[in-house]
Amino acid sequence: MSEHDGRPLTLRASVLLLVATYAAAVGAVELAPADRPVASWWPAAGIAVVLVACARPGRLAVPLTVAALVVVTAAANVTGGRPLDVATAFGAANAAEALVAGLVLRLGRGRAGGTPGLAGADDFVRLVLAALAGGATVAAGAALTVATLVPGGSPGEAAVSVLAAHAASTLVIAPIALAATTRRRPRGRSEELAVHVAALLVATLVVFSPAQSLPLAFVPFVLLAWAGLRFDLRTVTVELAGFAVLTTYVTDLGWGPLGNAADAAALGGLAAATLAQGYLVCAVLITLPLAIVVAQRAELLERIRSDGLLFRRNFTESLLGQVLLRAEGADLVVVDINDAAAAVLGAGRESLLGRDLGGLLVTPQSLPDLVVGLSTGRIRSWQSTVGVTGREGARVDVALAVIDRELDGGLVYSAQLLDVSREHSTRRQLEAAQKLTSATLDTTDALILVTDLSGRVVRVNAATTRATGYGETELIGRLVGETGLAPDSGDLDALFVWPNRSGAPVVREGEALTRSGERRRIVWSSNVVRDEHGFPAFGVMTGIDVTTERASAGLVSHLMQAPIGTALLGLSPEGCIEVVNTGAVQLLGHQPHEVVGRRFVDLLDREQLLARTGATDLRAAFAALVAEAGGGETRAREWTFVGGDGSPRVISVTLSATDPSLSTGVGYLCVGRDVTQQRRSQDMLAAALDKERTAVERLRALDEAKTEFVSTVSHELRTPITSIVGFTEMLQDGSVVEPLPEQLRLLETIARNGERLIALCNDLLMLSGLDSDDVTWRSEEVDLAACLGLVEDSVQPLLAGRDLTVTFETPTGPLHVLGDRPQLERVMVNLVSNAMKFTEDGGVVRARLSQEGDEAVLSVTDTGLGIPLDEQEDLFKRFFRSSTAHTEAIQGTGLGLAIVAAIVEAHGGRIRVRSAHLEGATFTVRLPLLHSGGPSRPVGDPGHRPVPA
Ligand code: ADP
Repeated sequence: MSEHDGRPLTLRASVLLLVATYAAAVGAVELAPADRPVASWWPAAGIAVVLVACARPGRLAVPLTVAALVVVTAAANVTGGRPLDVATAFGAANAAEALVAGLVLRLGRGRAGGTPGLAGADDFVRLVLAALAGGATVAAGAALTVATLVPGGSPGEAAVSVLAAHAASTLVIAPIALAATTRRRPRGRSEELAVHVAALLVATLVVFSPAQSLPLAFVPFVLLAWAGLRFDLRTVTVELAGFAVLTTYVTDLGWGPLGNAADAAALGGLAAATLAQGYLVCAVLITLPLAIVVAQRAELLERIRSDGLLFRRNFTESLLGQVLLRAEGADLVVVDINDAAAAVLGAGRESLLGRDLGGLLVTPQSLPDLVVGLSTGRIRSWQSTVGVTGREGARVDVALAVIDRELDGGLVYSAQLLDVSREHSTRRQLEAAQKLTSATLDTTDALILVTDLSGRVVRVNAATTRATGYGETELIGRLVGETGLAPDSGDLDALFVWPNRSGAPVVREGEALTRSGERRRIVWSSNVVRDEHGFPAFGVMTGIDVTTERASAGLVSHLMQAPIGTALLGLSPEGCIEVVNTGAVQLLGHQPHEVVGRRFVDLLDREQLLARTGATDLRAAFAALVAEAGGGETRAREWTFVGGDGSPRVISVTLSATDPSLSTGVGYLCVGRDVTQQRRSQDMLAAALDKERTAVERLRALDEAKTEFVSTVSHELRTPITSIVGFTEMLQDGSVVEPLPEQLRLLETIARNGERLIALCNDLLMLSGLDSDDVTWRSEEVDLAACLGLVEDSVQPLLAGRDLTVTFETPTGPLHVLGDRPQLERVMVNLVSNAMKFTEDGGVVRARLSQEGDEAVLSVTDTGLGIPLDEQEDLFKRFFRSSTAHTEAIQGTGLGLAIVAAIVEAHGGRIRVRSAHLEGATFTVRLPLLHSGGPSRPVGDPGHRPVPA
């Protein structure tokens, strides 16, 4: 099928061709030998076939052409002198031939409805078939006509002659029209053509010269083959036509090998003209296919050349970077590269040729590995985003593939490069922006839900998942209304009125149900996010959890209504009462509605207020009160308030300024307590204290009198007793008279009791001296170790008749304290003698002196009766005697320990007891060592005394 469909014949062209048919037919009839009923050559046949083959598409063109041909051919036959019936029959046969051959040719028309072409072997075969079919048709028609209408004519001869003439005509003439659609060979061979035409002409004339009988008829074929090889199809078809005219004409003249009668006879009696037509058929069959094939090849070459050009243009002008590469070992060497690729790689084209692609790109994968993968077919192609050596921050999409072609024995690769640096950096910026958004969303404490236009959650922040307990995946994709977090549907509708034309956020407070079923109060503020065209794109709901605030607000009102006795009044910065609690209502006797909105100062006793503040009006008075608070709190002060019933009420009030940052609307808080009762109690307390003071004073006077009395009595007693004891001793030792043995016992008793009385007197005098600070202390360096040795001696008499183990432990060296030696000995004697006195026979008493740090420690331990725990508190009080001492009837005065404690105290020491009932006792005395580094106070220094509570 031809790719170059020609245009169908116009009416004008058809008419011209009909005229040509007529002329050619007339000429052929005229030239036809008189002895034959049919013409030996019939160029009109080829023209008629062209008329049908190239007729316009449509129903009418072909039938009309055929009808016209009948008329024209018949007319030509009539003109040529043939009878009308014969002429008409020949006309019909000719038209039938044109119809058959033309229709066969029309089968090769292009789809677009053009004319048949002569572009390939198919077309040629179709042409041959058309020539044969047409020839056969007309031969049949001619034979029938001769048989029926031409008396004496030979139908067989007519058939052969017509077949040859008409087939040759179709084969020679039709190609001129069919080849018109083929491409013309570019000019440039005109000289060769001229030489060729001359050669053909000369050869033909030589071969067909008169009386030429040599069988050289094939020579022109060589020249025709030359034409077929070297010239375009149109030239060849025209040359063939010319050659046909020439050979037909000279043969008709009787020249050449075919016109030679003798040869004709040798050829089986065929007419020379018929032979000439067969000769032409052969010429066409040899030349035309050659020309067609050569033309086809030229066409193909042309197409390939233009394809190559197209490829080259595509390669060099492509906006996509293109690189051709050849594998050299592990390297991919640039063989060709276009400008776009060079720009991507940031270098000139020339400088990149011969470079290794691996050195030009920064790839995550090893390029040599890829080359191996690609060359073995393991990888078909490779695509990635890579960096460019020397172009910081550049990103390039690269696609690498093997082209199935070998260059110098190596595989050829193609690489396509696309600079995506800008997209990459834009994406990075976008990612950074998204990260920033996420970070912002996730660091805020507010709950944030982002929804699409249908109200479905598309994003939640960390605060939301934290506060609600729902995971991100549990919320995303759900309708906001179904999450249980947002307000109920009514509120939600208000939130999602698209578009929210005012652009102002919709604020609602609602209850959110967390995953664990907890209810939280959330204030949602919702708004619409618009795209760059102003159309709504997203909904953003920002929620603040106000559960605690709401709860504390409830707590505050609860507190204000709680039945407490304290009055709380919240005052505006201007001093008007804003808030009143139940306590204030009770204390003041005013109902809340009576006082809220009134000035605070109106509730106070006016006279007192003005007098205290020194102000002339109430406004100035309030200013003075506030000034006293000075941004903090006033001291508590009693103010007289005018109660609801008009009665005065004394209330202790503090006024404090509130923190302005709380913005509660309350500027000052007044806290008041009713002190009427308290005042009464205070008065009673003062009276009681006064009474007590008087009593104490009286007691002190009594005590002093008693001390004086005891002191006087002791003093007065001691002198006579001392003389009694002295005289008794004289009586005992016989300095007056030798006593009788029974008298001696009595004298001993008198002396012992006298000693005890003296000791008692001494104790009493000591105590009264301590009471009246009338004791003279000696301050000297005392070696306690030496003292304890003396004590050991002095208590020996007490052991007489007793079964007691008494041990004394003293340090090897001296232990010096600043003190009053006799008094310190008294302490030791008293403690050791008490231990012996209150320990039954068989028991143990241990006195131990040691140094602990800068203190001398004397401990006296016994295994005796001990002191009940509840009595130990009074141990060092005067006249104390334990219940055990009473029950066991152990003698004593209860003054010893009181004196011991006083002496220890006067020395700046301490005394402690550890004991339990019937489990013995340990008395420990600690005294500051002399030269211990600390200050040494003289004995009896008031600094030694414990500070009175
Ligand atoms: P007196 O020994 O003259 O009774 P003290 O003042 O020396 O007076 O002692 C007061 C009381 O303390 C004693 O009556 C005794 O009940 C109790 N007491 C003192 N030392 C001991 C001791 N070592 N063991 C048991 N009781 C003691």
